[in-house]
Amino acid sequence: MRTIEEQGHIFEEWITPAQIAAEIQPVADRINEDYKTKSPLFVVVLNGAFIFAADLVRRFNGRCKITFVRVKSYEGMTSTGEIRFIVPLQQNIEGRDIIVVEDIVDTGLTIHHLKQYLLDQGAASVRVAALLCKPDKLQFADAEPDYVVRRITNEFVIGYGLDLEGFTRNLDAIYKIKEQS
Ligand code: 5GP
Repeated sequence: MRTIEEQGHIFEEWITPAQIAAEIQPVADRINEDYKTKSPLFVVVLNGAFIFAADLVRRFNGRCKITFVRVKSYEGMTSTGEIRFIVPLQQNIEGRDIIVVEDIVDTGLTIHHLKQYLLDQGAASVRVAALLCKPDKLQFADAEPDYVVRRITNEFVIGYGLDLEGFTRNLDAIYKIKEQS
């Protein structure tokens, strides 16, 4: 099993690249089915969702557009309790069917605010596709993702787009913390 050290913590490989690919496919199948008569706009939440989004949208068979927002709710390994828009939405979304692509839903704060923002901007519908979700930490009922690749317990994970202080996004697998030093 592969391990890496980052910021004084040891992380071990947990979900392999092959497992990630296999588990994304059924989620993509459901999205293809649900949106077969629609042309959705994928709103990718930067930075963490960029790798998941690249894999997910390439499995979408229909017409679609893709755009990006950048929000931040975490400092280090702790949620700050509020979100900041660092890169706001760049286009008119009035009447669009939106699929928000998120790396991980933790407290749900990010999705709760983002969904409300997208609906306020005139979106016709907003659904959420998340790579990971920590159901035990969810604090906002409306932030439960419509599509989830894997539900996990309350561990801090990195890799496959997910960072620790900006590092580790390039890891091809998802790693979880092993021990703290
Ligand atoms: P929420 O707003 O749902 O509390 O947190 C969502 C954001 O927190 C995610 O998009 C991600 O940036 C960050 N986050 C939450 N849990 C983790 C985790 O286990 N690992 C990493 N790297 N980021 C996390």
